[in-house]
Amino acid sequence: MENPHQKQMYNQFASDNYAGICPEAWEAMQAANVGYVSSYGDDPWTERACEHLRQVFETECQVFFVFNGTAANSLALASLCRSYHSVICHELAHVETDECGAPEFFSNGTKLLHVDGPCGKFDLAEVERVITRRSDIHYPRPKVLSLTQATEVGTVYTPDEIRAASELAKRYGMRVQMDGARFANAVVSLDVAPAEMTWRAGVDVLCLGGAKNGMAIGEAVVFFDRELAREFDYRCKQAGQLASKMRFISAPWIGLLESGAWLKNARRANHHAAVLEQLLAGIEGVHIMYPRQANSVFVEMPEAVAAALRSAGWNFYSFIGSGGARFMCSWQTTEQDVLQLVDAIRSAALVS
Ligand SMILES: *Cc1c(COP(=O)(O)O)cnc(C)c1O
Repeated sequence: MENPHQKQMYNQFASDNYAGICPEAWEAMQAANVGYVSSYGDDPWTERACEHLRQVFETECQVFFVFNGTAANSLALASLCRSYHSVICHELAHVETDECGAPEFFSNGTKLLHVDGPCGKFDLAEVERVITRRSDIHYPRPKVLSLTQATEVGTVYTPDEIRAASELAKRYGMRVQMDGARFANAVVSLDVAPAEMTWRAGVDVLCLGGAKNGMAIGEAVVFFDRELAREFDYRCKQAGQLASKMRFISAPWIGLLESGAWLKNARRANHHAAVLEQLLAGIEGVHIMYPRQANSVFVEMPEAVAAALRSAGWNFYSFIGSGGARFMCSWQTTEQDVLQLVDAIRSAALVS
């Protein structure tokens, strides 16, 4: 059969979900493809994947697997809130800008309140101002602080920053949820234990990304406070997020965690983003927008350069963050891909 993408000569940097399935995830899926196994998560693969996550996080967390990040975030937030509550997040947060209102939908009306802050990270004084500005019955009560790690603009919160955010939230009786679509990229960037960035820093629920790390599909919702996980299985089922052949979502987690590929993949993506950043910084007219701490580089460049790049066949987003172009590296990115992109940008900058 002819592969319609055979003509594709180079990688694209539009998103880390343009990449394929990494070998470790693929092999684990194949290993799970034997005989008959019971369904809906009641199987040895799913049990082993959960056990691995408990080891990685060094605690008896409760784990659920869902199909994608929008569902993970929305259902996690819905489980922490009542309909008259509110969630505080950064104005660039994926839950606010890229989930089509799913958090509000699945929580039957919980309102997202957004705050500003430099480099995709919220400013805590601003968070406190939003928490305390009203306490009357006409205002949706703040109940959850949601933070993204790594952030939408490729920066990371340090464990101290996460701890300070959690302390603030807890002081007002709020819970803390972390959108970890690129959690592995943050782990290798900070070089800290996953526990230090989550429950030891006050995070109650983590939505842990699998797809952008090298899996085909699947994210894990990790409850560090097991009491909060009560009846979450019903929530997943009602939302159409309970996979009947769950083993094919859970087995790749075993492959990624057992081999260490989840960190290897993230390290490689971060490394190539660092190289890209360094090379782009030397091109006249191109300006790096945020400190690169994970696997993306955001640049400002003249409109003519962006247009020339697009007409040369390069895809990239310019609606994420505050304008500019986002170039995202993945587990699959090679040094050669990076050099090809840099060449293309350099040529575009020269002619325009
Ligand atoms: C990609 C992403 C998600 C998940 O998105 P889905 O397309 O629903 O899987 C969640 N949060 C962030 C920050 C993301 O970049």
